[in-house]
Amino acid sequence: MWADALIRLHLDSSWSFGFDHAKTRFGQCDHAKRRITVSRYLAARAEDDEVHQVLLHEVAHAMVGVREGHGPVWKKRARELGYVGGRTHSSDAATDHARWRGVCPAGHEVIRFRRPSKPTSCAVCSPRFDRQFVMTWHDRRAAS
Ligand SMILES: [Zn+2]
Ligand SMILES: [Zn+2]
Repeated sequence: MWADALIRLHLDSSWSFGFDHAKTRFGQCDHAKRRITVSRYLAARAEDDEVHQVLLHEVAHAMVGVREGHGPVWKKRARELGYVGGRTHSSDAATDHARWRGVCPAGHEVIRFRRPSKPTSCAVCSPRFDRQFVMTWHDRRAAS
């Protein structure tokens, strides 16, 4: 829904949105096909605002063109759209977009841009904070 709204607002009707099955990157902007895709796999494991951020990132790519990469023109446009992720990166790998992976004792996974400042427990295991289900955070960039 967001993706379609963003495309209508910022791009033209030649652009489309879809999900893909990637597991190693979060979002992709295919300039040749004029198509923005987001990994269904990772979107299901991320928070709404994080998925929204990935969309803004990719829409900014679509707006400025493939040659700009993550240069200053792209950065300015992404900021205007409301993208808050700061770093430049050479690929749209999931490890660049969302750095932190939290795992609960039962093995549920979440992916976050920022490491939570307070202890967080697994929302699947318990709707409210429960020390038993505290997430362990892994720096996905250090892991790869
Ligand atoms: Zn990018
Ligand atoms: Zn859990």
